[in-house]
Amino acid sequence: MIDATGHVVMPGFIDTHHHQFETALRSLLADAILVNDGRPESAANYYEWMLQKFSVLYRPQDVYISELFGGLSQIDAGVTTVMDVSQIHHSPEHSDAAIQALRDTGRRAVFGYFEGWGERAQYPADARRIRAQHFAGDDGLLTMVMGAEIDLPGFEAAWALGRELGLPLAMHIVGTFGMAPTLDKLAADGQFGPDCIFIHTTGMSGMAWQKAADAGAHVSLSVPIEMQMRHGTPPIQKCLDLGMLPSLSSDVECTMTADPFTQMRSTITLQRMHANDLALRGEAYPKLMSAAEVIEMATIGGARGLGLDHRTGSLTPGKEADIVLLDATALNVAPLNHLPGAVVTLMERSNVATVLCAGQVGKWQGALLGHDIARLRAELEVSRDHLMAAAGVEQDLFRA
Ligand SMILES: [Zn+2]
Repeated sequence: MIDATGHVVMPGFIDTHHHQFETALRSLLADAILVNDGRPESAANYYEWMLQKFSVLYRPQDVYISELFGGLSQIDAGVTTVMDVSQIHHSPEHSDAAIQALRDTGRRAVFGYFEGWGERAQYPADARRIRAQHFAGDDGLLTMVMGAEIDLPGFEAAWALGRELGLPLAMHIVGTFGMAPTLDKLAADGQFGPDCIFIHTTGMSGMAWQKAADAGAHVSLSVPIEMQMRHGTPPIQKCLDLGMLPSLSSDVECTMTADPFTQMRSTITLQRMHANDLALRGEAYPKLMSAAEVIEMATIGGARGLGLDHRTGSLTPGKEADIVLLDATALNVAPLNHLPGAVVTLMERSNVATVLCAGQVGKWQGALLGHDIARLRAELEVSRDHLMAAAGVEQDLFRA
């Protein structure tokens, strides 16, 4: 029995796309953008810095501490389920370290088996071992998704293997990466299905969008990141117009926080900004998103997208208890006058009082349980120091 007087009791938040391995490099690329077309830019290029310079230097122990620390931080923020997009599978030991960290975090997690680099990388073939060794049942706190990036050579093999193993397929869709022709072909060939998880989904043709909606594919929006890093305008309205319920995702903490309140506020304000702009110009405009609707995206939308809505995403008898208690008596919230409004427009991580993951208490009355955070932070700093030194990057708190 938990006395929840003065608290909002709601399902835990769900983040459907988070590169947790980047935790050691938090805020390093705050001003960066995502480009891979070789154009000279005034801002740092995420692609060059994170994927070409740093990620190749990760050892299994670096993967482990970043994955664990980032996951605990999200329990603290009320996120009880994540899809971890770990593009760090340079060897089977790297993969095992990521999975062990997700397990040790103690929350629901979908292990996204994406690519790695180097001589010992065994993506995608090692999916078969990983599935058998770590995910033989689909009933634990951890489940698996196949990374299936369509801009990688030979992606068809990953798609085929993922489907053979009964795994959902997840991929980044970024219009500036020139993916539209490949998507159109996959759509026309009937390859889209309810097992497809499209991340960002910028620059996709109208035909492919319609096929995605018809197939029951899922869209994960990383709204603050997409606005910050030039992925393209987040297709919030496109999803709504097609009757699709997207989920929200944090993406990369090297550039933006992974707390769910930032996700929700960015999404609702951007949708309403576009609609309000049309209204002010005297044009027809779509329905304004409500606070309750954006909470749906941050909870049940994510559960459906990850194929976990029979177990989480709502407070429903028979589901597992992924529950957060939010303090509605706090200085920044009281008095409580509108419940969804208070959660979406007023609250932040400090209001997350208690968090249960599958009935186990991970945070209790403001304190994270079961982990020595000071020790883990020291390990994370050692890992950060290794990565920066190995990359030949000087630590500079005011880097331009
Ligand atoms: Zn991503």
